[in-house]
Amino acid sequence: MSRPAIAHIRLDAFRHNYRVAKKHYGGKALAVIKANAYGHGAVHCAKSIRSEADGFAVACLEEAMQLREAGITEPILLLEGFFEAAELADIVAHDLWLVIHAHWQIDILLAAKLKRAVKVWLKMDTSMHRIGLPPQDYLAAYRCLKAHDNVSQMVLMTHFANADNLSTNHTLQQCQIFQETIQGLNDSAGIDTSVANSAAILAWPQTQHKTHLAQHWSRPGIMLYGANPVLESAAGQELLPVMQLNSRIISISKIKKGESIGYGSIFTAERDTTVGIVACGYADGYPRSATTGTPVAVAGHITRLIGRVSMDMLSVDLTDLPAVAVGSEVELWGKQVSANAVAASAGTIAYELFCHVKRVHFQYFDAANI
Ligand SMILES: *Cc1c(COP(=O)(O)O)cnc(C)c1O
Repeated sequence: MSRPAIAHIRLDAFRHNYRVAKKHYGGKALAVIKANAYGHGAVHCAKSIRSEADGFAVACLEEAMQLREAGITEPILLLEGFFEAAELADIVAHDLWLVIHAHWQIDILLAAKLKRAVKVWLKMDTSMHRIGLPPQDYLAAYRCLKAHDNVSQMVLMTHFANADNLSTNHTLQQCQIFQETIQGLNDSAGIDTSVANSAAILAWPQTQHKTHLAQHWSRPGIMLYGANPVLESAAGQELLPVMQLNSRIISISKIKKGESIGYGSIFTAERDTTVGIVACGYADGYPRSATTGTPVAVAGHITRLIGRVSMDMLSVDLTDLPAVAVGSEVELWGKQVSANAVAASAGTIAYELFCHVKRVHFQYFDAANI
């Protein structure tokens, strides 16, 4: 038997979650499948929704080319555009859409000799202060690009810093800066816009810029993988987990009260304890920072991680689960244990957990009727 650490990927759940995004926000939706679809496998994910997806978004040309080479012909947006002028020939050849977020990119794009004009998503920094043009530069940049032969269509976009936080109105402030700035364009009602990530789709429906002449493009990422970024949102309850990270118990032993286990002996038994060893560790992407008490499902029951996670193994408390044996099934996250719960006790977010999964076998399932 080979090593039992497996990431099961439910493509039907991915498709369901894409539909949830579209149903709740309306308009068009670019499925964000950067970073190998947040660790889930970009080509598999893209193929599973290609007949209904309005398009895809990735972080860079290499990620987009992987999709094109796999036969994905739908629109693909490069979320940071190009990093150097040399990429433009391939961007045109593969018919990719570009985010333009900085003056240096505008200079390069306007100076380039392109075989065909490209579609540009012009990004405004509405106070997240990561990337994007400041509002005071935005209209001039828009007009300059719009008038140029290298640019076909344009979409106006921004990105939210705090859409997952319902106790601040920063999202609405960012929206207001965006709206006020683009109102300076006399044709603004006819230009497509894009502001919403998953959290905004689920919790801030009022951020959609609705006009009868233009489309709004949402950009769902994490919600497609079934991790709800806004636990308070009702819509988020409809999401289905896509990845189930499983392994098995490979050893069981008993330790006495007062004895410690694992590296650093950071866990000392407060009672006589049955310890199960699971074939999954931080080299598989399970976070080393997960603390004793992190939920783990063993043979369908929730128990707890104990002691330090090592490279290839971790330990769980089986004291109250006498029926568990070597070979019993373990779920690290998925249906019984949410990735959000593991992330919370490891001081991180589900996004990072998913992106880090590696070495395990990936198995894909698709029940066509979901
Ligand atoms: C990654 C990304 C998204 C998706 O964000 P989620 O929080 O995963 O929904 C949307 N827009 C941009 C610009 C991004 O970089």
